[in-house]
Amino acid sequence: LTKRTKRLIFPSEIFEEIEDFKQTRSPVIVSLQPDANLGAIKKRLTELGQWLSSEERDNNGRVSLVLAAHSTKVKPEQLLGIAGVAAVSMPTSVHPKIEAQGPSVDVDGVRVGGGAPVFFAGPCSVEGEEQIFEIARAASQAGASFLRGGAYKPRTSPYAFQGHGEPALLWLQRAAREFHLKVVTEVMSEATAPLVAERADLLQIGSRNMQNFSLLKEVGKTQKPVLLKRGMSATVEEWLLSAEYLLVHGTKGVILCERGIRGFDTSTRNLVDIGTVALLAHVYRLPVIVDPSHGTGRKDLILPLGRAALAAGAAGVMIEAHNDPGSALSDGPQALTLSELQQTLAQLKREQP
Ligand code: PEP
Ligand code: MN
Repeated sequence: LTKRTKRLIFPSEIFEEIEDFKQTRSPVIVSLQPDANLGAIKKRLTELGQWLSSEERDNNGRVSLVLAAHSTKVKPEQLLGIAGVAAVSMPTSVHPKIEAQGPSVDVDGVRVGGGAPVFFAGPCSVEGEEQIFEIARAASQAGASFLRGGAYKPRTSPYAFQGHGEPALLWLQRAAREFHLKVVTEVMSEATAPLVAERADLLQIGSRNMQNFSLLKEVGKTQKPVLLKRGMSATVEEWLLSAEYLLVHGTKGVILCERGIRGFDTSTRNLVDIGTVALLAHVYRLPVIVDPSHGTGRKDLILPLGRAALAAGAAGVMIEAHNDPGSALSDGPQALTLSELQQTLAQLKREQP
C-alpha cells in the first residue's frame, strides 16, 4: 500500500441517549501496512498521547491497533501521517463542531486560550454606573481583559435582587469601553438575547441555563462568542453537547467555564472540578476558564484555586470583585476588594505557567 491509498473510515452510529452512546461509541482503530514497523508506530502513537487498548491480528497477520478512549484527541491526518499506517477508522463524534473548534477563541481582538492567561473581573451584579466605572478602572489597572457583571441575574430566590436589566447593560458597556476592556455578561432569556448581544462582546450562559436549549439556539443566532458555564450537575458530555448546540446555531466560538459542581460537602459553595479542566484543556484542547468565586464561595480560596486552574491548563480565571463587598447586592462574601483583585492578578501573572 502506498501513502495515496490510505483512507479514512467513518462508521455511522445511531444512538438515542448519551448513556447508550457511552457504551456503543466505537474506538479509533489504526490499521497497519503488512510491512509496518510495529515498535516505531507504537512509539509515535505514545508521543501523540495515544494509548493502546488492544492489538489485533487478522488471518493474514495484518495488525490493527485499537486506541483507548482516554487518548488525546488528534486529527486523523496525524495518525495517517505515521509511516506504516494504512487506514484510520474514527468514531463519529456526537459533538464534532466543538471538538474541531481548537484551543482559542477570538473575542473582538482578545484571544482566549493558546497564549497567556486571560483575566475576567467584575462584580456579581452591575449595581450602578459609578460603581461599575470604579470597578472597571481597577480591573483594567490589575490587568484584566474582560469586565464581568450581571445585568440580568439568575437568583435562587425570587425575593433577591434580580439585576438592573437594560440600563445596567449600557453602564457596563460604557465602563468597559472607557478602560479598554471587553464585556462579558449573562443572557437569561431568548427575548433579551439580541439586546445583550448589542452591548456585550462575549455572551455568558449561566450554570442554571446550560441546558436551556431554546436559549442556546437564540444565543447561537446572534453569532457572538459565548462563555458557557458548566451546569451545576452537568457531565462533560452534556456540557460539550450544549456547546455543540451553540455552534450548530451560529455561535462563532465557545469558551467553557468551570464554576464548580454540586458535591456532597458544603464546606465550599461548590466542588471545583480541576480534573475536568485538565481534560478539556489537554485532551480536548479547548479553551476553558475557571471561576473560583462561584466555585468556592470564599474569597480566601481564590488565589490558590486560580493557581490550580492555570496549572491544570485553564485559559483564564474569572473573579468577582467589588468596590465595597460588604454592601454588595449579591455575592458579597466571595467578592475581592479592588486592592485584593490587584494583588491576586499580579500574583497569578507573576507565577503564570
Ligand atoms: C455569574 O457568573 O454571574 C453566575 C450567576 O454564575 P453561575 O451561573 O456560575 O452560578
Ligand atoms: Mn455571583
